[in-house]
Amino acid sequence: MSELKYNILGKSKFEVSKLSFGSLTISPLQKNMPVNEGAKLIVEAYEKGVNILDTANLYENYPHIKEALKSIKREKFHIITKDYCYDEKTAKLSLEKALKELDTDYIDGFLLHEQESEHTIRGHYKALEYLFKMKEKGYIKSLGISTHFVQGVKGAIKYSDILDIIHPIVNISGIGINDGDINQMLNAIKLAKEKNFGIYAMKPLGGGRHISDYEKALDFVLNISELDSIAIGMQNSLELEMNILKFNDLEISLDLRNKLTKNKRRLNIASWCTGCQKCIKRCKQNALYIEDNKAKVDMDKCVLCGYCMKECEDFCIKII
Ligand code: SF4
Ligand code: SF4
Repeated sequence: MSELKYNILGKSKFEVSKLSFGSLTISPLQKNMPVNEGAKLIVEAYEKGVNILDTANLYENYPHIKEALKSIKREKFHIITKDYCYDEKTAKLSLEKALKELDTDYIDGFLLHEQESEHTIRGHYKALEYLFKMKEKGYIKSLGISTHFVQGVKGAIKYSDILDIIHPIVNISGIGINDGDINQMLNAIKLAKEKNFGIYAMKPLGGGRHISDYEKALDFVLNISELDSIAIGMQNSLELEMNILKFNDLEISLDLRNKLTKNKRRLNIASWCTGCQKCIKRCKQNALYIEDNKAKVDMDKCVLCGYCMKECEDFCIKII
């Protein structure tokens, strides 16, 4: 098998594999893999050349990553996390939690989670100031944002003196982009690249929506030269193998492709839903609605981000 391709992640200067390990899929919000099992999959990806992992405070999978780090050369592996922290206190708590639970001396990338525009970044500026100080002290190597918004990318550009990385949603249909289409997103990414931002994309398969068009969907993102890396959520060795083959431009057997198509994930809402609507208010894709006093999902709109799951106190929502 040939080697994965590597790129420099913009201003962060990390040399990262074109394929990033999206770790939401192994977390309690999705497959809820036991720590050892999740760690084993991360290590397997690392041994096959994947050297960048995307996580978040929300995903609750730091224990899996900590376990994996025992078998990984720390300096050769880039961990990017993100959080909703908005001031010094919440940023301090979040950073200290990440350092402690990952049992590491530094975080490679710390992102403000789900930024919408320059205004939301400004609203989180106290957190950024603190994180920047921690960057100067070496606890963080780079700073950035994750976003589902074209204006989020444009907003980050306005803070290019302090931010290094943008983690935008990019896929062939533009599903999940909250304020525009895929062409507008790509134009914004081009502008960010001109400012030397490191760009690693999320949701190239549209949260599973494009799984039946896997090759076409991945060809689309792989041909975008501005993307230094592309995060794909993986839950098993089969998915990892498929992605490595695709990123190496190698042929994927019909058998493998069929198995992956069968693995299609979906959102499930349990019968004991009380119809409280908390999840509905949280979903920016408008994928949830009430019918017969219970929440239902429109899978044509859902990008499997998992954000709604945390809202449900009755643990009704699962990605299966
Ligand atoms: S938050 Fe839970 S209980 Fe409330 S509507 Fe959503 S799924 Fe139902
Ligand atoms: S329904 Fe839930 S998982 Fe699907 S897009 Fe909305 S918030 Fe994300």
